[in-house]
Amino acid sequence: MFFPMSIPTNRYVIELPFQADDLAPYISKETIDVHYEKHHKGYETVLLGLISGTEHEQYSLEDLIVHSHTSPDQRIYNNAAQIWNHNFYWKSLCAPATSKHPTQGAFFDAIKAFGGFEKVETDLLTAATSQFGSGWAWLVRTEHHEIAIRKTGNADPVWLNSADHPLFIVDVWEHAYYLDYKNRRKDHVESVLKNVMNWSFAERQFNAA
Ligand code: MN
Repeated sequence: MFFPMSIPTNRYVIELPFQADDLAPYISKETIDVHYEKHHKGYETVLLGLISGTEHEQYSLEDLIVHSHTSPDQRIYNNAAQIWNHNFYWKSLCAPATSKHPTQGAFFDAIKAFGGFEKVETDLLTAATSQFGSGWAWLVRTEHHEIAIRKTGNADPVWLNSADHPLFIVDVWEHAYYLDYKNRRKDHVESVLKNVMNWSFAERQFNAA
């Protein structure tokens, strides 16, 4: 398992780990409200409708993703994967006052070996802005316990076809930024990376088995 998620039976969307206005002005309360209440919970409403009364009801979110991703009908996969990605996305964000780079430890050393925090942010920005259409930019720990940057399209979780262990993600679907930044994806991602990334969460993910 990639990280523990305490979610009540048959509910898949986590509670927001911050208040909806905590990330302003970098991400507005309006964006968080629409993104969480309409988009994220919307995926859950659709998924519950698709699996209600079927054998899929007993599956964990991760199992649903793994078992449905090669299905000709991609609706369960797309909605389950988007629920997972958004749960991980909320955990990847935090209020500006608590967004601090680590200064020592294994995660810090891995970032240094990669080229430093500035290179991480530059490469993540490149991944986010070069993703054509919707998708996600990821900071991951590789199977060799090195830092790497990835991008995936649409709903694809980075771990599905790789040994990558996700540390944090940036949502580059337009719904993540259009209310605040219109079409300026680069400005949005730069602002998020510099101000509201949860480096403590990334470090806990890095140190997890
Ligand atoms: Mn989103």
